[in-house]
Amino acid sequence: MAVTVDFDAEELWLAEDPANAARPGVLSQARYGAEIAVPQLLDLFERLDVPATFFVCGGDAERYPHAVEAIAGRGHEIGHHGFSHRSPHLMARGEEEDELVRGLDVLRAFTDRVAGYRSPSWDISPHTLDLLVEHGFGHASNMMDAVLPYAHPDHDLVEIPVHWSLDDAPHFWFDATSWDRTIRSSREVAELWGEEASAIRAAGGLITLTVHPQIIGRPGRLRMLETFLTGLRSDDGIWFARCEEIAGAVRAASPAAPAAAAVLS
Ligand code: ZN
Repeated sequence: MAVTVDFDAEELWLAEDPANAARPGVLSQARYGAEIAVPQLLDLFERLDVPATFFVCGGDAERYPHAVEAIAGRGHEIGHHGFSHRSPHLMARGEEEDELVRGLDVLRAFTDRVAGYRSPSWDISPHTLDLLVEHGFGHASNMMDAVLPYAHPDHDLVEIPVHWSLDDAPHFWFDATSWDRTIRSSREVAELWGEEASAIRAAGGLITLTVHPQIIGRPGRLRMLETFLTGLRSDDGIWFARCEEIAGAVRAASPAAPAAAAVLS
């Protein structure tokens, strides 16, 4: 199982609408995520001995260095989640590369190794995989085409697949433009996540859970998350691992993957 945390704070709201820079009330949600929710998530993961992968926006790492230091200090993996929270498919190749490099420069101040990439909104461009290989990434987590991690056929990258159903945002997201939708209860989300996780467990796939500090960090939702993870943690047949460890296991299991063969030839 991969417990993944997309740590986007102000960058999320600024990408939604640059005018949010002048809306302290909107941005207060981001500050809550960084300053209140991240420490609580770290304590929760420690109580349950759960290793996690935090995908962090470079701009938010600059804004909240203590939060990122704490994440790295607890032994969790730090991955790249854009510098800003703008989707790569909206950028020209050069701009996408600049964002990638800028984010890497910031994140490398907190950890020796940034091997994983998850784009904002899981939305990548036709250039993203090429750029990830060129800049030394080893795994990516954006695709919804599998329930098992796999080696990309034409790139030396392992994919850690995701899906909206095991994300918190589709169920809990709410902002001032969302009056036509309803916030789901934690009980409903626990039921949805539970159904999906138990079926993936039975099929022998990878349960990739994605949460966001500013969304999952409400008290009732954190309580649900702890109950959900406690149940899975009690199952000795589930391997909890950081994305990089999962990528390593995929590489070890498929030494003849095209990328590895290319390196050997
Ligand atoms: Zn995000």
